[in-house]
Amino acid sequence: MSTTPENLTAHAPRTVVVIGGGQAAGWVVKTLRKEGYEGRLVMIADEVHLPYERPPLSKAVLAGEADIETVRIAKPDEFAALNVETWQPDCATSIDRATRVVTTRSGREVKYDRLVIATGGAARKLPASVAKSAHVTYLRTLDEALALGERLRSSQRVLVVGGGWIGLEVAATARKLGVQATVVEGAPRLCARSLPEDVSRFLLDLHRANGVDVRLNAMLLALEDRPEGGVRASLADGSTLDADFAVAGIGLAPHTALAVDAGLSVDDGIVVDEFGETSDSFIFACGDVANHPNAWLKRRVRLESWANAQNQAIAAAKAVLGVKTPYAEIPWFWSDQYDVNLQILGDIPAGVAPVLRGSLEEKRASLFFVEGGHLRGVIAVNAARELKLARKWMSQGRAVDIAALVDTSKALA
Ligand code: NAP
Repeated sequence: MSTTPENLTAHAPRTVVVIGGGQAAGWVVKTLRKEGYEGRLVMIADEVHLPYERPPLSKAVLAGEADIETVRIAKPDEFAALNVETWQPDCATSIDRATRVVTTRSGREVKYDRLVIATGGAARKLPASVAKSAHVTYLRTLDEALALGERLRSSQRVLVVGGGWIGLEVAATARKLGVQATVVEGAPRLCARSLPEDVSRFLLDLHRANGVDVRLNAMLLALEDRPEGGVRASLADGSTLDADFAVAGIGLAPHTALAVDAGLSVDDGIVVDEFGETSDSFIFACGDVANHPNAWLKRRVRLESWANAQNQAIAAAKAVLGVKTPYAEIPWFWSDQYDVNLQILGDIPAGVAPVLRGSLEEKRASLFFVEGGHLRGVIAVNAARELKLARKWMSQGRAVDIAALVDTSKALA
């Protein structure tokens, strides 16, 4: 639909309510104002902080090198200029779609013309039958990261449950702080769901070389308090591990309960179209909680990444105002661990052997996943520039020459 300032005004909602206060919510309110929306804007969020970015939480914030001021999406005066009614800390408890009213835990109500659900998710918790110790922590919010950082910096040994992105970044930060770290991962390899075997092995070697005790195929039976203080982990193979405390990073549980209760379509996240619209045309969803048809992957997916939280939110906010720009970004993700910057772009198809440029042993490599002469995805290890080029070619749909990709004697450009 082409949108002119005139029909934008004619169709503009008078009240937009945003549920959530994370990165996606922050980009929704910023984009609505940038696009000229002048109506009432209410943001309901359970955290006390204004929207902030999460990538530094498991790195600089843990290390004590960053705080709320460094991670904000907008400076307080910039956010104030957006004229958002922030209902914080509060929590939306129901959505009445017939009357278009959101009710909160504190008993407040607001009638919306358009609603955006950007509720993200919570750290998945270990079952109570396993986590019997008071020394088990999780990392999702800024306050959790600040508390975890303090604890880490005054500890000698940390036990990390889960060899995914949280677990590995926490372990790397622990080592940087001189804290001993053990990672207990149930699967046979690290980040098994997002990485091919070679890169999992590379990360395993990287962590072991930095002194992390990584246990794979490790089935955690119990975490219990030790009488002398700290925590003891018992594994299915009969071994035990002691630490001052444990951090579990075992995945994210999307906050979909509100949407389910409201009768919206939910299937591994709130089902939305390429504009962020849910099964109710007055309600939109974006970020970690939304399941969208991804143009690059050619399937529905719920992405948990910084780039998705921002760019899908921008597309959804525009759609709220009737400006229909499909969200069609190539999925992108990065992680920083020790001296390694690892980036993943696009599709990493299982069973496709990558074309390798550079060397993982030398910690500088790009793995190109090529199908039908075109790039489907790239994993870059300390090769940000190559990934940037690959992104350009992928966006342009350009065919690639495999011989040129592997030839490190010539610049990729
Ligand atoms: P994750 O990346 O899904 O990794 C969780 C890991 O824990 C998986 O390897 C999982 O194995 C394993 N696991 C599950 N239950 C376990 C158990 N009982 N014992 C041992 N291992 C177990 O999730 P996450 O690390 O918790 O991160 C949460 C979210 O934050 C994700 O969306 C992640 O992408 C995001 N994040 C992003 C960054 C970044 O952008 N750099 C950094 C940190 C976090 P299975 O797969 O076999 O279940």
